[in-house]
Amino acid sequence: MTVTKPRLFTAETNRPAALPAAVALLDIEAAAARIAGRVERTPLVASPSLSRFSGQPIHLKLETRQPIGAFKQRGAMNAVLALTEDQRRRGLVTASTGNHGRAVAYTARELGLAATICMSALVPSNKVEAIRSLGAEVRIVGRSQDDAQVEVERLVAERELTPIPPFDDPDVVAGQGTIGLELIEELPELACVLIPLSGGGLAAGIAVAVKALRPSARIVGISMKRGAAMAAAIVAGRPVEVVEEETLADSLGGGIGLANRVTFALCRDLVDEVVLLSEDEIAAGIRHAALVEGETVEGAGAVGIAALLAGKVNPQGPTAVIVSGRNIDDALHRRIVSGAIA
Ligand SMILES: *Cc1c(COP(=O)(O)O)cnc(C)c1O
Repeated sequence: MTVTKPRLFTAETNRPAALPAAVALLDIEAAAARIAGRVERTPLVASPSLSRFSGQPIHLKLETRQPIGAFKQRGAMNAVLALTEDQRRRGLVTASTGNHGRAVAYTARELGLAATICMSALVPSNKVEAIRSLGAEVRIVGRSQDDAQVEVERLVAERELTPIPPFDDPDVVAGQGTIGLELIEELPELACVLIPLSGGGLAAGIAVAVKALRPSARIVGISMKRGAAMAAAIVAGRPVEVVEEETLADSLGGGIGLANRVTFALCRDLVDEVVLLSEDEIAAGIRHAALVEGETVEGAGAVGIAALLAGKVNPQGPTAVIVSGRNIDDALHRRIVSGAIA
């Protein structure tokens, strides 16, 4: 299924000319300078198999190679480095479905700060343990990302901890956008980018950078059918509640926030198309990544590959697939790769 944006929400009709975007190319260039040396510049590798399959040059951007196994380190590091000394000293707090929490914990450890990570009971135990082992305090609250967020707000109000939002923050978006700069440097003729889409920090950041430097490039967001919050918001024209469901792409779960300030408008204006995938299609993406590309990739990280294999995107020209993370439970990964699931 493809969500086509209503004509009403094109950049031409809906962006008030006087209102500057929350994140601009300059912010992303500043982020790249700030996080240089603290975040990996990840490889962009050709995929002969996907290129043959789709008839276009397909390249994989391997954010799986970040030390925490996901791109989230870029946004977290940029946001924390942008804080005042006082904000840092009070300690960091965030709600996370896993990888952002891991990124904040890692960043805190690197910079010698305290971190508290709040998450829902739906988060897989491998992700919880990974965060604990980075030295952060973990708090398990409720059954949804929203419940975890309520706990963050309580800790901010009562203990004056400094919140690091997972996506809806200009510094976080700018950090994720550094991927877009790297793509254009290595593949100046870029025609299309396939981006896993949840809260939209990753897609918004990359889209701002890529559309500024290569306006003709097409930005495709990819989510799972089960609880695609940004897709529902784009169709509705405003953030809407979605029911959080279990999915192989667990890092894409959760809402975009009903009071979304940054990522909704950027995704609405800059994402050209949103594609939704079934669980079987996501499993096929994980399997292909492991058996053909030789990469361990979690569900959320495999949706770009999955969309190509399912024939749900038809890129024209050099295409970058953002392989956003590798943090999947080993036993689940083995079952998917062996074909026991889907
Ligand atoms: C967070 C995450 C995403 C989605 O990023 P958003 O900025 O929330 O859209 C995709 N893949 C992985 C592995 C993630 O951890």
